[in-house]
Amino acid sequence: MSQTQIATRPDWRLEIQRAYTNPELLLTNLGLEPAQFHADCKARALFPMRVPRPFVELMQQGNRDDPLLLQVLPRSQEFDQAEGYTDDPLGEVSDNVLTDEVDGLLHKYRSRVLLILKGGCAVNCRYCFRRHFPYQDIRFNQRQLQQTLDYLSSHPEVNEVILSGGDPLMASDAQLKSIIEQLASVATLKRIRIHSRLPVVIPSRLTRQLKELLVSTRLKPILVIHANHGNELSDTLEQHLDDYNQAGILLLNQSVLLAGINDSSSALSSLSERLFAANVLPYYLHQLDKVTGAAHFEVSDYRAQQIWQEMNQALPGFLVPKLVREVAGEHSKTPIMPPGPVSIT
Ligand code: SF4
Repeated sequence: MSQTQIATRPDWRLEIQRAYTNPELLLTNLGLEPAQFHADCKARALFPMRVPRPFVELMQQGNRDDPLLLQVLPRSQEFDQAEGYTDDPLGEVSDNVLTDEVDGLLHKYRSRVLLILKGGCAVNCRYCFRRHFPYQDIRFNQRQLQQTLDYLSSHPEVNEVILSGGDPLMASDAQLKSIIEQLASVATLKRIRIHSRLPVVIPSRLTRQLKELLVSTRLKPILVIHANHGNELSDTLEQHLDDYNQAGILLLNQSVLLAGINDSSSALSSLSERLFAANVLPYYLHQLDKVTGAAHFEVSDYRAQQIWQEMNQALPGFLVPKLVREVAGEHSKTPIMPPGPVSIT
């Protein structure tokens, strides 16, 4: 599929400006009655609502339980104080995993560092583990990039940089080009990985310039998108992903297991099949990070393991994502494996 064949949409930056930020307006446009969500809408004060229009277009009119709507609509349950839920569930702020040397650099895995390029996102997911993260303290600039390059030069064990956020694709292609070209000058780096939900909510973010940038660097490019439900994979997104795949960019997906949205083997198996059809491999299925305001999305480990086993029986192994959780202070994701033998197909 050539880029010119991909359906044209407004420029992705314009889509960000046009995003819904008012829950009443979003509900009205979906044929729902805002008065029935009066208590819910107040939760936007806890974490602003932001939903791009291409994502809204994938929601079903009149369906208050739409799995895409439930991920982005403020809910009254966000005011609940649940035991074990905190503002900083991964200890990123309190344990100071941000390196002292460089603002915005997280070195919690031995061979990989996370670079927090941008604080903002195109969409505000209600379950986001960084919904209370002090993004305003992070301003990535050339001085910090130079500090990052110096840090990487003195840590040769790091062979991969993960661009994270917020959403790193909120940076312009010109900014990304400059950053990636300078990172490529560090001889010990082998890979550049981008974690982004932006292509799912605004597929036109997968520009030709970004593709050319990723295939022209000597670093092996990996794009990890974030889709939680098969309905999030629009035809337009599939066309863009096919284009990137044909250019040689490795495409992976990570999901979060969310009550009422994708907590069944049928929903997640369908997602895996849709991803594979779009040349994307399921990578991780995350248990929810226990961030204040998101307890209503929790799925028990027991149920998560059941779902994972059912997926294992229904799908070939390469379509079954690893079931994991992040544990504060751990240097890698912690697998949540069911007890007893597992048959791999
Ligand atoms: S896109 Fe990712 S970082 Fe941004 S709000 Fe959603 S889950 Fe959080």
